[in-house]
Amino acid sequence: MSGAMVLVFLGPPGAGKGTQAARLAEDLGLTKISTGDILRSHVARGTELGKQVAPIMERGDLVPDELILAIIREELSQMAEVRAIFDGFPRTTRQAEALDELLAELGAPVNAAVLLEVPEEELLRRLLRRAKLEGRADDNEQTIRRRLQVYREQTQPLIDYYAAAGVLKRVDGVGDPGQIYCRIREAV
Ligand code: ADP
Repeated sequence: MSGAMVLVFLGPPGAGKGTQAARLAEDLGLTKISTGDILRSHVARGTELGKQVAPIMERGDLVPDELILAIIREELSQMAEVRAIFDGFPRTTRQAEALDELLAELGAPVNAAVLLEVPEEELLRRLLRRAKLEGRADDNEQTIRRRLQVYREQTQPLIDYYAAAGVLKRVDGVGDPGQIYCRIREAV
């Protein structure tokens, strides 16, 4: 398959965006761009950016839009043809608008925004379990609650943004991962 294609994964922390986006990227031959993974890699390598963002991520707050947009511009500039799945980006209206502007220049609009819907009690359960298994610095109960609040306040408005653009696909994110993947394939 070829031709420009851009998908966005929306949804709260713990919804399963990373897992599902990885599988879809593989099957559709798209590059998965996860801002969380890119930031964690900077933190692990101790880069200037990593030092700047580590305390922000540990609190569960959002990294400033301009830093995130610099990462995205860099990633897009490396693609001969835009074929990408964004995981964990955009997270604010400013990021979504900037993405649309960048993509307009490249002639490749967002084809679909997949919203993985999971009730909040289930998210808390999943994130606390992941905290035990992986020990991610931001997977402790206080930070998890903060991330869920930040999602409600800053990212949830993007649901309306993509609905208005006519590209929103709501997918039930509860069930086994294979089943959820089938729902996503039907939606996009
Ligand atoms: P989760 O979805 O579980 O919160 P992520 O890996 O997507 O995990 O994000 C981890 C942290 O990285 C966020 O809490 C935030 O501090 C930072 N981050 C990731 N993506 C963005 C983004 N697009 N804008 C601002 N901050 C981001």
